[in-house]
Amino acid sequence: PKARVVVVGGGYGGAIAAKYLTMADPDLRVTLIERNPVYVSCPLSNEVLSGERDIDSLTFDYRGLTRRGIAVMGDEIIEIDPEQRFVRGKGGARYNYDKLILSPGVAFDFGAIDGMSAELADSSIPHAWKAGPQTLLLRKQLEAMPDGGVCAIVAPPNPFRCPPGPYERAAQIALYFSHHKPKSKVMIYDAKDAFSKQGLFQAGWKEHYGDMVEWVSAAAGGAIEAIDPDSMTLTGVVEDFQADVINLIPHQRAAQIAVDNGLVDDSGWCPVDQQTFASTLQPDIHVIGDAAIAGAMPKSGYSANSQGKVCAMAVAAAINGESPPAPSYVNTCYSILAPDHGISVAGVYELKDGEIVSVPGAGGLSAPDADARTRAIEVQFALDWYRNITADMFT
Ligand code: FAD
Repeated sequence: PKARVVVVGGGYGGAIAAKYLTMADPDLRVTLIERNPVYVSCPLSNEVLSGERDIDSLTFDYRGLTRRGIAVMGDEIIEIDPEQRFVRGKGGARYNYDKLILSPGVAFDFGAIDGMSAELADSSIPHAWKAGPQTLLLRKQLEAMPDGGVCAIVAPPNPFRCPPGPYERAAQIALYFSHHKPKSKVMIYDAKDAFSKQGLFQAGWKEHYGDMVEWVSAAAGGAIEAIDPDSMTLTGVVEDFQADVINLIPHQRAAQIAVDNGLVDDSGWCPVDQQTFASTLQPDIHVIGDAAIAGAMPKSGYSANSQGKVCAMAVAAAINGESPPAPSYVNTCYSILAPDHGISVAGVYELKDGEIVSVPGAGGLSAPDADARTRAIEVQFALDWYRNITADMFT
C-alpha cells in the first residue's frame, strides 16, 4: 500500500497541501485533520467590519476535498508521536502517518499586554485575528458605538499574520464611520515604527477619510503595555488612551500544537528547511504557513498557499525516492481601502543558500501616483484573487 500523509490544519496552507499531494501522486493516502467543521477566511474579513460583506461569503466546507479522495477528519490534534509516527485527537483517535504536514496557524500571546486574556478577547475586547465570532462581535460593537466615539486598534510587533491587515482594517472601519458616524475616529496604537505599504496606506486614508484615521508609532508613544477593560483605557509607555471600542491584536507565535511538540525555537516560530519545509527540530514533520519561519516571505494566506504546493511536491518526491524539485514561491497581499481603492505588494521568491529570498526586480508595490482607474482595478484584482485562491483550496 502507498504511503500515508497526514495534514493537520485545513486553512490556507493545509487545504492546499492536502489537495496538491493527491495531484502530485494519486496513490498517496491523504488525511486532512481540522478541528472546525467549516473554515472562515481571514482574507476579506475586514470587509465584514465595514458592512461591505457578510461572513457567509467567507465560509467554506470540506466537501470539495472529500470528493478528491482526501479523508477529511473533524478532530483536534493534541499529541504528536514522532517516534511511532502518529498523531492523536482530543477524543483519543489515533492517525498513523509516514509523513506529517502541519499548517496550524498562529497562537496569541495574551500575556504580553497586562490585563489582556483569551476570555476578554472572546467577551469584550475582540482581536478578530481569526475570522469568526470575534469578527461579528467587533462589528456589533462598532454598530453600537455612538457617533463621535473612538475605535482603537492595537497593532502587534513583527512578525505577525498579515502585515498590512491592521491598516486595511483601519480603512474599512473608517469607511463605515464615514457613512454612519462621521464624527468618529480610528486610532492605531502601534508596537512598531513602520508598517507594510505605509506610504500607500497613509495617502489612501487621507484621500478617503481625511483625519479620521490616525496612526501613533511606537516612537510617538503608541506601544501599549496594559489594558483596563472596565474603564476602556490603554496604558501606553508615555500616556494613557481611552476608547469606546478596542480591537487589541495580540503578539503572536506559532500555534499551540507546534509549541507543545518541540517544533518552535526561541523566537516562538518553527524553523524549517526552507526547500522542503521539514522541521529542523523534527525532520519527519513539515511545517508550512504562518507557523513556519520562511525567510523573506510574509505571513499571509498566499504565502501559505505557495508553501503548501512546494511542500506537497517535496513530500511526494521523498516518498517516491526522488529529490525535491527546485522551488519557486510567490505572494501578493491586496488591501482594500475603499470600494474603489485597492493597493498591493507582490513578491516572487527563490531559494538561495538554503534561505527564501526575494527575486530582485520581481514584484513590488502599487505605484504611489497611480490614477483612480488603476486603484479601482486593484479592488477587482483583490476580489478575483480571493475567488481564485478559495477555489484552489476548496474545490
Ligand atoms: P490558518 O489559515 O489559520 O489555518 C490553520 C488551521 O489549522 C485552522 O483552520 C485551525 O482550526 C487548524 N488547527 C490548528 N491547530 C489544530 C489542531 N491542533 N488540530 C486540528 N486543527 C487545528 N492573507 C492573504 O494572503 N491575503 C489577505 O488579504 C489577507 N487578509 C487577512 C486579513 C486579516 C484580518 C487577517 C487576520 C489575516 C489575513 N491574511 C491574509 C492572512 C491569512 O489569513 C493567514 O496568513 C493564513 O490564514 C495562514 O494560513 P495557515 O494555513 O498558516 O493558517
